[in-house]
Amino acid sequence: MLTTIIYRSHLRDDVTYQMLEEMVAAANIKNGQANVTGILLFNGTHFFQLLEGPEETVVPIYDAICADPRHYNVVELLRDYAPSRRFGKTGMELFDLRDHNSEAVLQTVLDKGTSKYQLIYDDRALQFFQTFVEEGEKENYFEIPSADSWEFIADGNAIALPASASDNPADCRFAFQPLIDPFAREIVAIEALLRTPAGDSPQTYFAGLTGDALYQADLQSKKVAFAMAAALNLGAQTLSVNLLPMTLVEIPHAVEFILQEINANGLVPEQVIVEFTESEIISRLDEFTRAVKLLKGAGIRVAIDHFGAGFAGLVLLAQFQPDRIKINRDLIQDVHKSGSRQAIVQAIIKCCTSLEIAVSAVGIEKAEEWMWLESAGISQFQGFLFARPDLGGIPAVAWPEKKEE
Ligand code: C2E
Ligand code: MN
Ligand code: MN
Repeated sequence: MLTTIIYRSHLRDDVTYQMLEEMVAAANIKNGQANVTGILLFNGTHFFQLLEGPEETVVPIYDAICADPRHYNVVELLRDYAPSRRFGKTGMELFDLRDHNSEAVLQTVLDKGTSKYQLIYDDRALQFFQTFVEEGEKENYFEIPSADSWEFIADGNAIALPASASDNPADCRFAFQPLIDPFAREIVAIEALLRTPAGDSPQTYFAGLTGDALYQADLQSKKVAFAMAAALNLGAQTLSVNLLPMTLVEIPHAVEFILQEINANGLVPEQVIVEFTESEIISRLDEFTRAVKLLKGAGIRVAIDHFGAGFAGLVLLAQFQPDRIKINRDLIQDVHKSGSRQAIVQAIIKCCTSLEIAVSAVGIEKAEEWMWLESAGISQFQGFLFARPDLGGIPAVAWPEKKEE
């Protein structure tokens, strides 16, 4: 299918203009053979390129471009499909914006249009051209250092569960994973993640359970979570636990049970955060909002987990404001390469900043993801990059340290 890809990137400092011209000449031949049109804009620092052609050839060309060491911070801005070409002439053309005024460049790009219908200004691809030519930089375009400029060095501060804690008769266990602020070198909270006795996932633990049995299992498991947290001597450390929203709505006195277990284990409500997954909340929002009031009234903080995964996120913020949200891994994964993820994450940050809701990002696996999100204004992170969930207690944290140049 006819495919259009637009990306932008940053030219490496050590690439000369002559190398650039050679690159364009080579690309012109390659694109011609692949039936691909490339229009490349260069403003002295950044590239902006449109690639148009059959999906089978455009995508491999784009993948090769992403891997090209002559530029970095490649961000995909648009991937779109169309019935016919906007730009018929294949090959590669370079416009150096320093040599032309912006209107002339736009007009030239428009003149190249071979679409049956005249190219119109509300075409998304053309809008991207216009923005790049006129504004140059968009606010979300962050220059992140390369991943290998950081080392992640584990501290020696793992806390192992005492042996006595693992011979409890409960039918569940918890793994612990820290939420950290890497630059403050601070553990913000420890999340307790449900596991079967064999160490399998929450999904496995809940498999086969429905209705009240499911909600009871969810609630009762928190008794074990708080007991394990107590055995770890959390002190004043914040502890996060997960609950299904319907556990709170369906089980009478659920909030009382949670409070009682918190107290019984020498913890205080103010150090506990309950995380809810957003997608399940929306069906009975009023009842859920009432249950949240009870939690808040008891001093327990509330977080919306997997924010952005369901359709309910924004509606939820309109109805009640949690103390924090955790942006889901689906939006975080490769955020440094994706213009659409960047735009969405920035909108979430903006919205939560207005509401003074703390924003954290979960599922960070790559240094680039972390650095992009730091640049965007997030400072709290959870993910394998820093620490994996640990069944044996609180794991050591691998803190980022800038390598000497
Ligand atoms: P969650 O609350 O978002 O927890 C984080 C999940 O992401 C955990 O999966 C963790 O192992 C995983 N994770 C953390 N860092 C990374 C990373 O860098 N990459 C990847 N790919 N994954 C990462 P887990 O433990 O399988 O839990 C899945 C979900 O199950 C949790 O997501 C939470 O929503 C739910 N859950 C966990 N414990 C409980 C519980 O006690 N009750 C209920 N109702 N749900 C729970
Ligand atoms: Mn969670
Ligand atoms: Mn998750």
